[in-house]
Amino acid sequence: MTSLFWRDDAACRDADPRIFFPVYGSGRSTKATAEAKATCATCLVRIACRDFALEIGDDNGVWGGLSIHERRTARARRSANPSLSWDEVVPAPRPPLDEYFTSRIKVDDDGHTRWIYNGTSLFVDGQRRTPGQVAFLLGHGREPESRIHAECRVHGCITSGHLIDDRIRRERQAIQDDIAA
Ligand code: SF4
Ligand SMILES: [Zn+2]
Repeated sequence: MTSLFWRDDAACRDADPRIFFPVYGSGRSTKATAEAKATCATCLVRIACRDFALEIGDDNGVWGGLSIHERRTARARRSANPSLSWDEVVPAPRPPLDEYFTSRIKVDDDGHTRWIYNGTSLFVDGQRRTPGQVAFLLGHGREPESRIHAECRVHGCITSGHLIDDRIRRERQAIQDDIAA
């Protein structure tokens, strides 16, 4: 069975269902579809959502940034050429992770950052990650090499410059060893 674990991170989680599932022919469906697609463009789980809708063949509303018609077209294209991946049939650009992340944090006056979103993890590049791991990834431009911790010792702080992993510890130690040598 296809997993729905990505749903917690859906940008449409609290959206008005009339936008994502408009009554077609109501006169407002074109506008609603455009609004839904704009939300999908900011959604971090868009690829998982698109694949789910294409694979289960859901033919209601907007899923993964695609209208019913676009999903039918995509399925027809893939049926004609099963070697294509969904990405090759209907690419789903990922929204900028930093914008998504920034909209869910609050930076205190003293520079410590808190995660203020309900979910406690994010679905990024096919993996579930904690806000701290994402902060580290964005701030340091790489994955953490070990468990990370906030050296400011402020509980829950995810300011990237306050987060360190084993590699940073090793690099600091190497600098200290050089100075001492
Ligand atoms: S891609 Fe669109 S429909 Fe799918 S979860 Fe995200 S916002 Fe909702
Ligand atoms: Zn801090």
